[in-house]
Amino acid sequence: MGDQLSRDISSLKDARKTKDVILMGELWDEATSVRHHKKKIILVLSAMRHFAEELKKDGWRVDYQKLDDKNATRSFTELVNRAVKNHEPAELIVTEPSERRVLQEVEGWEKAFSIPVEIRTDDRFIASHQEFDDWAKSRKQLRMEYFYREMRRKTGLLMEGDKPAGGEWNYDKENRKPASGDLFMPSPKTFKPDAITKDVIDLVKGKFAEHFGDAEPFQFAVTRKDALKALDHFIKEALPRFGDFQDAMLTGERFLYHSVLSAYINIGLLDPLEVCKRAENAYLSGDAPINAAEGFIRQIIGWREYVRGHYWRGGEEYVRRNFFGNERKLPAFYWSGETDMACIRETVTQTLEDAYAHHIQRLMVTGLFAMLAGIDPYDVHEWYLIVYFDAFEWVEAPNVIGMSQYADGGALGSKPYAASGAYINRMSDYCKTCRYAVTKKTEEDACPFNTLYWDFLARNEKKLKDNPRLAQMYRTWAKMEKGTKLSYRARARAILDKLDAGERI
Ligand code: FAD
Ligand code: SF4
Repeated sequence: MGDQLSRDISSLKDARKTKDVILMGELWDEATSVRHHKKKIILVLSAMRHFAEELKKDGWRVDYQKLDDKNATRSFTELVNRAVKNHEPAELIVTEPSERRVLQEVEGWEKAFSIPVEIRTDDRFIASHQEFDDWAKSRKQLRMEYFYREMRRKTGLLMEGDKPAGGEWNYDKENRKPASGDLFMPSPKTFKPDAITKDVIDLVKGKFAEHFGDAEPFQFAVTRKDALKALDHFIKEALPRFGDFQDAMLTGERFLYHSVLSAYINIGLLDPLEVCKRAENAYLSGDAPINAAEGFIRQIIGWREYVRGHYWRGGEEYVRRNFFGNERKLPAFYWSGETDMACIRETVTQTLEDAYAHHIQRLMVTGLFAMLAGIDPYDVHEWYLIVYFDAFEWVEAPNVIGMSQYADGGALGSKPYAASGAYINRMSDYCKTCRYAVTKKTEEDACPFNTLYWDFLARNEKKLKDNPRLAQMYRTWAKMEKGTKLSYRARARAILDKLDAGERI
């Protein structure tokens, strides 16, 4: 599968070159399950083709279907059906798919093809499903921080005996500095498309012209060798300041000190643990401070593993959760970037061009606006699944439904990430060039986040007022004069009416 491009994936562990056939297929149904960003399709298909070539060179028998092969099958099941007829295998061995929909398909194969099907654990993850469930079932509330500490203990990463390196488990409070344009900004390592990638770019431009985003310039790594170069580059150039500027946003600086490695990890070109060990080594050799190494490692063995646990525990209905009962449709500017709100324009434009935005842009710009404006979380989920190069449902859905929209009612996080424009102003320079004034409250040119923020709290007071982490906000709201409250709500209403009418805001 397109996200199983690891040589030591569990399905290949005891494979024999003389006897076994490795089946891989580019599938129309997968490429169109949503209107994935063109760059994401190019990345996955090109990485698959490169991986298959490497296996073949190494002496493996690979049965590979290209998307545009004559008689190409559309789905996994059709592909396997044909392969079973052609190769008459004694058994099928597959590593568990990362997505529930595909797992359900695979679980039907034994019956459908009347041969044994062994579904193996994906041991690239640090916590197995069982481990996460065991950890979760003894707790009333699940919180990432405690799970993360278990993962630190399990991996031994940044541990000094049974104590965390440097004395603290978490250095997040040091990681909230805004960035300024005069800082040295490393760019992530880029790669020129080779002949295989160029073929895929042409294929995608032809077949998926209607899909979101720009196909070119395409500069991502599509082999493990290049992904390792990208990792080296990040560890040397960006990791030392990753922590400091993790939450910062700057116009024109799309990557800041972020690694841009998520997609390589998700599709299997890099192993999560090897990436973390590189960060730990940088700390141990004095090349990166503890707040950078810890902050980075926490994202991978903490957040990444924690959200996966939620995805599988959340069940089939997780993506349909809608705690606030939001029904508004996603505004058109999420697709075009055509809005006067500079923060959203900048984030969506770079998403269209690069298939990338960093965590705070996803959480505190596009995610925040959607939650404050009461957009249907399922629409928001689909948007995120479409637009990013690293989007796979197991990691995207809990980040969207749980973390950014609070649509799971607090299963994943302890409070909604609600904020006014002041947060964006503190962490970015977007407000300087915006048509709206971040310091204004209810005037026609006041920042929409300011009014929508109070409207969100007022609208959802019944559901949120008992949350201790929101107590201060509700106290401020309670103390506000009636007239001020009414002006906030009236201004918010005007913005939401404009959204509903499809007018530019
Ligand atoms: P860095 O900032 O360099 O972080 C290092 C690594 O940590 C990442 O490469 C990634 O592997 C991991 N990581 C960091 N945060 C998270 C997180 N919250 N969950 C899981 N892994 C994390 N990540 C995806 O991989 N796929 C998605 O589809 C996705 N959708 C998201 C949607 C929303 C609304 C939000 C708020 C976050 C989403 N994330 C997703 C998490 C995170 O934003 C991306 O992993 C990160 O921005 C990728 O860029 P990077 O490699 O430069 O990350
Ligand atoms: Fe975004 Fe408001 Fe700042 Fe404009 S003023 S960039 S809308 S936060």
